[in-house]
Amino acid sequence: MAKKVFKAYHQGQLMLLPPSLEEMIEANHPARVVNQIINQIDIAPLEKKYKGGGTSSYHPRMLLKVLVYAYLTNTYSSRKIEAALKENIHFMWLSGMSKPDHNTINRFRSDRLQDVLKQVFSQVVLLLVDHGLIDLKEAYLDGTKMEANANRYTFVWGKAIRTSKERIRRQIDELWQYARQVAAEELSDTEPLEFAQISPEKVQQTIEEIDQALKDKPVDKKVKQKLQYARKNWPKNLERYEQQEQQLGSRNNMSKSDPDASFMRMKEDHMKNGQLKPGYNLQLSTQHQFILNYTLHQSSTDTATLPAHMDSYRELFDQMPEVLTADAGYGSEENYHYLEQNRVEAFVKYNYFHLEQKGGHRRNPFSQTYLHYNVQLDCYYCPMGQPMTLCGKRQRKTDNGYLQTNHLYQAQNCRGCPMRGGCHKQQGNRIIEVNHRLRKYKEMARERLLSELGILHRKKRPAEVEAVFGCIKHNKGFRRFMLKGLRKVAVETGLLAIAHNLSKMAN
Ligand code: SF4
Repeated sequence: MAKKVFKAYHQGQLMLLPPSLEEMIEANHPARVVNQIINQIDIAPLEKKYKGGGTSSYHPRMLLKVLVYAYLTNTYSSRKIEAALKENIHFMWLSGMSKPDHNTINRFRSDRLQDVLKQVFSQVVLLLVDHGLIDLKEAYLDGTKMEANANRYTFVWGKAIRTSKERIRRQIDELWQYARQVAAEELSDTEPLEFAQISPEKVQQTIEEIDQALKDKPVDKKVKQKLQYARKNWPKNLERYEQQEQQLGSRNNMSKSDPDASFMRMKEDHMKNGQLKPGYNLQLSTQHQFILNYTLHQSSTDTATLPAHMDSYRELFDQMPEVLTADAGYGSEENYHYLEQNRVEAFVKYNYFHLEQKGGHRRNPFSQTYLHYNVQLDCYYCPMGQPMTLCGKRQRKTDNGYLQTNHLYQAQNCRGCPMRGGCHKQQGNRIIEVNHRLRKYKEMARERLLSELGILHRKKRPAEVEAVFGCIKHNKGFRRFMLKGLRKVAVETGLLAIAHNLSKMAN
């Protein structure tokens, strides 16, 4: 039998020189990239967040390196980061053997990095430009919904608040009328109450007046019960409604446990029931799969997010990309106009662009898209060849305050037309609503999208932002924010974005 040979194993062996962590980190390890890049960042805005005095603090550069490396290695929990700082040589090397606990890590992430991380992120992007990896001239834009760290079932709906307020208004009015009947004498000097705008104070005061008037009077038992309930609940509820309405702003819903999060339909539906979940709309622009900018929005539609995202891009880099490619979700008049004003060449699709390109698809001859427009006479021709003349205009403001003008054209006489059944279901003569500005923008967009360059950008688009979303959600397993509130969630997004860029740089 051959002799068994084992390698020497002396666990307690003393070393002449202690091992250096530096030597243990491989030359091209991502931890080295994090170290090298964060060392070059100006952290003055971050340092300003420290008041000074008191006990010494852990160095913000060290904590920043630790957090970026944690997000790069899919370690998002502060307790896991605390553990890694004691067990993982890469974390230990980055922290210089400092061992901040999870509270310190959390405070740094939630408070200190708030509102300053974006500046750090922009410096990282500019370093990528210096390395020749990107040039900021081309950007691909897309969005995804990211679940918030909030209860999935506690909705607050703006409409429900309005209904509840209206119910209180109606009921207090009824109580007031009852009191006037029962205690006409006591309330004879009192001004008739107006409940058009109810407030907690006014409701409180009215209940007290009714109480006073009905004292010692034979009062219906049900009214007594209602008054008791009103006294206990209505002022308190109205205060809550006012606060919730403030938090809602222009949104129509929010989550109770994270009031900044809105309920949205998510692509990743683990319950597979199409139920709305609280989340944020994350918008990313990328180039060569490096993240150039990130913004978070509370509205679930991508269309309205483009101007804010691009404004933030300009704020970060003092320039706009020369070219922007985005999918049909962004093809609105407001966005085309915004990009034109900012001299950005837009390869942005619009609704039905793909359908238009499908040679074989059956065109609906009655569709407004295929009606002929005579520019000189400013009229359309309906499928029967009747001129449809201008009969009015309609204006609409978008959520961002952009004013759109639609022109209305009406057919002369639809009565008895053999095509009526297939043509329209309106009462009277058919009216179509046309946005001429959007029509022209679409024509320009179509020309650009079908050009050689347009085809190239369209081919590249799915491999740009969508690949980055795939990387964040599937490779990095980040599908739900850990923190609550828009500003804190923005910190997490910033850390993810920096970590993504550095890990790509390291590869
Ligand atoms: S129904 Fe009216 S609009 Fe439609 S084809 Fe007939 S005449 Fe024209």
